[in-house]
Amino acid sequence: MAERRHELYLLTPGPLTVSPEVKSEMLRDLSPNAELHRELTAEVRRYLLDICNGTDTHVCVPIQGSATYAIEAGLQTLMPREGKLLIIQNGFYGLRLRELAEGLRLPAATLELPMLPLPTRADVERALAGDPAITHLLLCHAETGTGVLNPVEEVAAVARRHGRKLFVDAVASFGAFPLDVAALDAEAVFVSPNKCLESVPGIAMVIAKRTALEASAGRSASVVLDLHAQWRFFEEAGWWRWTPPTHVVAALAKACERHRREGGAARRLERYRRNWRRLVDGLRARGFRTLLPDDAAAPIIATFHDPDDPGYTFQALYDALERRDIVIFPGRLTATGTFRIGVMGDLVESDMEVILAAMDEAMTEIGVVPARARGAAS
Ligand SMILES: *Cc1c(COP(=O)(O)O)cnc(C)c1O
Repeated sequence: MAERRHELYLLTPGPLTVSPEVKSEMLRDLSPNAELHRELTAEVRRYLLDICNGTDTHVCVPIQGSATYAIEAGLQTLMPREGKLLIIQNGFYGLRLRELAEGLRLPAATLELPMLPLPTRADVERALAGDPAITHLLLCHAETGTGVLNPVEEVAAVARRHGRKLFVDAVASFGAFPLDVAALDAEAVFVSPNKCLESVPGIAMVIAKRTALEASAGRSASVVLDLHAQWRFFEEAGWWRWTPPTHVVAALAKACERHRREGGAARRLERYRRNWRRLVDGLRARGFRTLLPDDAAAPIIATFHDPDDPGYTFQALYDALERRDIVIFPGRLTATGTFRIGVMGDLVESDMEVILAAMDEAMTEIGVVPARARGAAS
């Protein structure tokens, strides 16, 4: 039996199971004026630019709130009034991006695609040809609603080729998947601390192209979500506009240090891939089926079809696992009849054994056997 490494396994698409090392950074109170707090903020901003090759072309602007706050701040500050967005939507977070654009009353069109096959160059080119008013593309990189990893380099190539600008919701991918903002020539990339960076929620970051941000002065219709003002404040005062989330910054600085120590995004992705492989193989062996073929799946979250046992309900499985201090997630609107298990966070392969063992107990407790397992037994 594998050793249990955490009291609670939070296997959701964020917040995650965070390492004790990161959490313990939050035990120290810091003055907003403390040199240490300023240095931690600066360190985080530098490190995040560094790992996406943005140091020469981009700036990192942290903002209070969850990742959606950063997306909203970025879109409404960086989109020129005369611009028009094309949202490439093939899952729940694509839908969310559309809701944001609508809420902000930004001129926007949607390229609505099925979950699979993945969006192609031709799909995007067709949409652009049909609507010459489009100035900006917006794509969700790792679609955690379904687990699909979208081809961001290909979409960026289309944007460059046709003189359009690109925004990327890299909230769930940043820190594990390769992302080169200079090569993508991204207008902005939206980033969360509480996904592949393995820190706690409370802030989010926009990695924005310096020239785009410089051109956006005075455009924001919001005071607190004014990305330009937020950026200038960091540059000029060296600290946060409004009350700084001191504990959250300290945690993220430690999480960045751990990220570097692990060997950066490539090593982290390898660890997630091992977790994901172990979990998917383990649940397949128990009769579960994944929503996606392996080659389209981002190995940070696995989406499974509900067992077709009439006795199954998600709530019963959820409750049985929660009694074992393991938290999983239901499927999203765009993938009903599924449930999701995240493998991001301070997790290694042996944790997957703990989870599989708990899954066995939970399934026995609720009296459900996946169909294929039933078939195999008879
Ligand atoms: C988690 C997530 C978000 C942001 O959600 P918040 O609730 O604002 O943190 C956005 N996009 C994707 C792909 C995500 O996984």
